[in-house]
Amino acid sequence: MSIGFTFSACSLFYSILLTTVFFSKKRLATLENKIYGVMIIANLIGIILALSSYFFIGVNDTLPITNAIVSKSLIVYYLVYMVTFTAYIYVISNKVSFDNISKKDITIAKIFGVISVIILFLILVLPLYYHNENNVIFSYGPSANVMYVVSGIAIFLWLIMMIKNYKEIKSKKYLPIFSFISIGTVVMIIQKLNPGVLLMTSMETFVTFLMYFTIENPDIKLIAELNLAKTQAEKANNAKTDFLSNMSHEIRTPLNAITGFAEALKDEKDLPERARDDVNDILMASESLLEIVNGVLDISKIEANKLEIINNNYNPYKMFNDLTTLTKVRIGEKPIELIVKIDETIPKVLYGDHTRVKQVILNILTNAAKYTKEGHIIFKVDSLIKGDICRLIVSVEDTGIGIKRDKIDKLFDKFERLDEDHNTTIEGTGLGLAITKKLVQLMHGQLVVQSVYGKGSKFTVSIDQKIAPSDVKLEDTIEVSREELTKDEDIIGKSVLVVDDNKLNIKVATRLLEEYGITVDSCESGALCLEKVKSIKYDLIFMDDMMPRMSGTETFHKLKEDPNFNTPVVVLTANAISGMEEKYLSEGFDSYLSKPIERKALDNIINKYLNNE
Ligand code: ADP
Repeated sequence: MSIGFTFSACSLFYSILLTTVFFSKKRLATLENKIYGVMIIANLIGIILALSSYFFIGVNDTLPITNAIVSKSLIVYYLVYMVTFTAYIYVISNKVSFDNISKKDITIAKIFGVISVIILFLILVLPLYYHNENNVIFSYGPSANVMYVVSGIAIFLWLIMMIKNYKEIKSKKYLPIFSFISIGTVVMIIQKLNPGVLLMTSMETFVTFLMYFTIENPDIKLIAELNLAKTQAEKANNAKTDFLSNMSHEIRTPLNAITGFAEALKDEKDLPERARDDVNDILMASESLLEIVNGVLDISKIEANKLEIINNNYNPYKMFNDLTTLTKVRIGEKPIELIVKIDETIPKVLYGDHTRVKQVILNILTNAAKYTKEGHIIFKVDSLIKGDICRLIVSVEDTGIGIKRDKIDKLFDKFERLDEDHNTTIEGTGLGLAITKKLVQLMHGQLVVQSVYGKGSKFTVSIDQKIAPSDVKLEDTIEVSREELTKDEDIIGKSVLVVDDNKLNIKVATRLLEEYGITVDSCESGALCLEKVKSIKYDLIFMDDMMPRMSGTETFHKLKEDPNFNTPVVVLTANAISGMEEKYLSEGFDSYLSKPIERKALDNIINKYLNNE
């Protein structure tokens, strides 16, 4: 019995095993899997044909027609195997799947198909002879020669595809190709020297067997389970985000009343000194509460991948100025010197998400102010300009409590506060740096921390921003003091309508607006607003959005249906998550004011819409 026969017989065993294993399990219907399925079947048929050729030609050489059919079929099998193997390499090299088949792929497949049919035709019509002497069996002739040429071209094509994809050449997916080329060459040499040894089919079985382990073939049941778990986790995460944004909305409404009344009370002339102190404390506590609400909301949005970076043109110098002012307020009475060094080569206008850049820098500045008792804080901004990109390198160095070396890694974990024994008097949630880090990542920037425990820390953030043309028009709000506004003849007596379904909110807004000498009218629904506007001409309307029956946005659109309606409408809402301002402005609202009402923002709106100067 020849070696070739023994190999083929063993290969049959392996091939049956492989076919059973592959088809007994449900597989993902990927293109790669489909082609592989064809290869397995083809290989099984190939082995049967090889074994048959031993039987018909070698043992029982009496039926020339059967012999011819078997030998030709074997050549056809080689063609099918080579074609499918080439298709397989094309698919894995170009990462083609059922969802991303391009026009180019289809054209290549068509050309490939036509050429294969022509070759098939040649194989079938050209003569094929077979040799059978002393147990040495092999076929030869033009038909077989076509197949030799085709094999050579196919190997050449594989090499080209591999070279084109050289970066991934180490991937295990290419292992069968290497084996095919290397073992194939050895097999061909053996066969050339000893034509009777038919090892080609067995070699293909080996390669096909090897491929089974390189194909990404995860269990479909496992995938289904994973997908289910993923969907459930996503659902739970979305539910959490929704819950948090609802909570934030709900908390903001009473907070609006607390800060609103406290602000109004603070301005009372004959307020006793002690009461004034208390009011200030109420305001500070409310501010912290608002910071926490915003922090929780931000982190949940980031985790749900819902936080977007919204780019706009902005003036970086104004931003640094605001940051310095805010930090001074935060330092308060503490004996800390704030040293500010801003690089003057920074362009006048940058393009980026200035709200988020500001939030990041404010977080580290606030921390420096919080965790430093005395000494200094250096707020330094350098820049690195390359083409139309300006890299802002912001560092904040303090002489504060510092951070222990082994704790630096924990710094960015949410709700993680270090050194709690020393920190007990400093308020915080441990969310600030977790948010800061995520925001920096979202903006493709970097955040570096250096610290010596007991001496101080240095936080450095670098973020790339686009440089905008310096003549771009920026909406600059003219800063006016409240004293000026409350005395302004133009404003006194102007009429404003407040639309809100919550009576307490109306009371707060009325109280704050009356301070400017404005006449305030109010109503509790969109329908009532539409009624009122018919008979009264207001100078400005503040509109809540989330109202039952008719939302503020719907009411606004109904108002706009009247072509003569030209009163500015400001949306006044507790829906303060990021991106909301842009959403409302894109609806057509003239401006946006979030609850709790910030006095400065209110001043700006009053000045913009009611000051006719
Ligand atoms: P929070 O300040 O609300 O506690 P952060 O996430 O901003 O939360 O900071 C996490 C922890 O990192 C803080 O609790 C503090 O222990 C430490 N930390 C942050 N900044 C500094 C700093 N500049 N100096 C010393 N410790 C700091």
